[in-house]
Amino acid sequence: MPAADLSPPAATAAGVLRVAVDCPLRSLLDYLPPAGVRALDLPAGARVRVPMGGRSAVGVIVAHADGSLLAPQRLRRIGALLDPEPLFDAALLELLRWTASYYQHPPGEVYAAALPTALRAGQAATAQESWLVLTDAGRAAHAAGEPKRAPRQRALAALLAAHSEGLAAAQLYAAQPDWRSSARALAKRGWTELQLRDAPPVAAMSAADTTAGGASAIGAAAAAIDVIPDLSAAQTAAVAAVDACAGRFGSFLLQGATGSGKTEVYLRLVLRTLERGAGALVLVPEIGLTPQLLERFRSRLRVPIAVLHSALSDGERLQAWRAVRAGAARVVIGTRSAIFAPVQRLGLIVVDEEHDSSYKQQEGGCRYSARDLAVLRAQQSGLPVLLGSATPALESLHNVQLGRYRQLLLPRRADQAAAPRIALIDLRAHAVHAGLATPVTQAIARHLGSDGQVLVYLNRRGYAPTLLCTSCGWIAPCTECDARLTVHRGAAQLRCHYCGAAQPLPTRCGRCGFEVRPVGQGTERIAETLAAMFPTAPLARLDRDTVHSAADMEAVMHSLLDGSARILVGTQMVTKGHHFPGVSLVAVINADQGLFSADFRAAERLAQTIVQVAGRAGRGTRAGEVLIQTEYPEHPLLQNLINNGYEGFAAGALAEREAARWPPFARLALLRASGRSATTALDFLREARECATAAPPARLLGPVPASMARRAGRHHAQLLIETSGRGELHRFLEQWLPLIERLPAARRVRWALDVDPLDLQ
Ligand code: ADP
Ligand code: ZN
Repeated sequence: MPAADLSPPAATAAGVLRVAVDCPLRSLLDYLPPAGVRALDLPAGARVRVPMGGRSAVGVIVAHADGSLLAPQRLRRIGALLDPEPLFDAALLELLRWTASYYQHPPGEVYAAALPTALRAGQAATAQESWLVLTDAGRAAHAAGEPKRAPRQRALAALLAAHSEGLAAAQLYAAQPDWRSSARALAKRGWTELQLRDAPPVAAMSAADTTAGGASAIGAAAAAIDVIPDLSAAQTAAVAAVDACAGRFGSFLLQGATGSGKTEVYLRLVLRTLERGAGALVLVPEIGLTPQLLERFRSRLRVPIAVLHSALSDGERLQAWRAVRAGAARVVIGTRSAIFAPVQRLGLIVVDEEHDSSYKQQEGGCRYSARDLAVLRAQQSGLPVLLGSATPALESLHNVQLGRYRQLLLPRRADQAAAPRIALIDLRAHAVHAGLATPVTQAIARHLGSDGQVLVYLNRRGYAPTLLCTSCGWIAPCTECDARLTVHRGAAQLRCHYCGAAQPLPTRCGRCGFEVRPVGQGTERIAETLAAMFPTAPLARLDRDTVHSAADMEAVMHSLLDGSARILVGTQMVTKGHHFPGVSLVAVINADQGLFSADFRAAERLAQTIVQVAGRAGRGTRAGEVLIQTEYPEHPLLQNLINNGYEGFAAGALAEREAARWPPFARLALLRASGRSATTALDFLREARECATAAPPARLLGPVPASMARRAGRHHAQLLIETSGRGELHRFLEQWLPLIERLPAARRVRWALDVDPLDLQ
């Protein structure tokens, strides 16, 4: 331990400020207040400009201290206070402090991640607009009838003379569209002056509002048919349970099949929260934020809603953030990072589809789980949090068993179609043509024939996953990754789905010159096959190659809703929150990828996907049918899921996790590293492991190469850390990270720590 830690902090009369500066350092930085100011006069949660090395940086004041461990002559002064009022209240500051500490991430980067880019760069936290005022000289000149030979300038001066507080740019424009050139001329003479003033936040809100989805054709249609239903008994009970918890902490798990009315429960609870004068935060998965959902919230809540998601421009995000912070938008709907939104008087947090992996930051930056932070934020701020899902994460079900979450069940609604019939189709027992077994093809024909719509799910985009030489067996590889290249026939390309590399589609083998052939199925090929088999049934595709924007997505959904498409072929994108009432058959092309994975979470993910995709069937009046193609129909996971539903699956899976001591019965962290050669990452991890020898009770597994070791030209490896509890993990990492940071080998690799990793591959 460095000697400095043992000596008493040097006290300074004016006090010291502890500042989170956006940089990779693992600690806060100490600064003195500006000369003549006491530290306590600068509020925690406000931004300051500080000297950092040779440059100036923006930081957030996190705490005050009497003294510093730094020698007094090394303490520098804060440059300027950027916010007269703190941007973060005490509760948010505590949430951010906890986040940095729990996920072992540099605090400055965590605080920065909670702010829109413009604010990280030091821009004003309140919206500002330009006002034009007449100076005293200008007033005198105007009284004397100046400027005599410039009538437009004179008119502008007269306008300003009539408004002693000046006029905002928008008002000036309305009165005199070319006011700027006149204003410039007047300013040159010193007769007018432009001032920046805080804009009323509501103005900022309406702009953010229209950019974030707006009234769309589908949205409007959804709103028109969305009459306010009477709640079922189960919905009423759920609303009452959460509502009774207003003003204090309580965590609830709302579990119900797709269409059972979870969103209706969220809406009622948000309305209650607003009635109390409090605000609400609703988190949704990355691609769950559809125009349909937004329109439903808009038409029912009738208050400004701020929407925060990753596709916003910096300007839009700033506007939305300002509206939230100013209290003009009391409801926030957003994806992962919205968990840090400064909602005023927060009274409720909802996490929709809480099992969704997009809540966990997977790469780059602080790898937090917004779902877990939602529970923490609710606890710290004393308010209820409601997690909803048709397929809750095993962690959440475990928390129900432990009594930490209260389970609220929504059974299928009485006015809804019966649960879909699910059947397994044995790929070994039937003729298979182009990836489709005969019973599946027959079922598609049957459903199309009786006016149904068909959803075909395959978690693999492109035409075929492999390009094979029919003579020498050569398979087109990616030169930068341990991966095969995927055939994209429409684009006439071979593409790597790991590094993005692309090349023209060859017609001959790269090695022997013989003919090559695409092998296996992707969504593009399945769509082609189905179009040929059912030429009269129009088909739509939903994957990242065909759908790039919210507008594309809407067009696809529209074609299903109005019946202009009869078959939908898609990837994971089809499983999230869309309403396709006409879909009567769901076909899962291949369930087997998830059955034998090295990742202990693969089974859970497969079960969730199957149940979610099955939930798209029969939402209208007819009961749905779900067919799952597999080569392993006897696999216990599939059998359990078919016979006992998600509940049965979850009970079995939790028992397995307990026996194997996997989460939630243990805590994990993953140290990942990548380097230019096959050995640098492994060498670093080996050294990292060695400096941990003195620190049981953590169990270290590895290092091992990642399951796809070479990606984009870098070699990846990982070391798994396992402890029995959260406290042990935290204590271990606290001691260990400073040691590995100092390893010389750490400088030869890129490394990152992932606490509670979701993906172990
Ligand atoms: P989930 O969020 O669980 O998928 P939703 O709340 O979106 O379910 O409900 C699905 C559909 O059923 C929506 O159109 C909704 O308006 C309607 N709905 C919800 N609750 C009721 C109810 N109690 N009675 C009738 N219709 C309802
Ligand atoms: Zn590649």
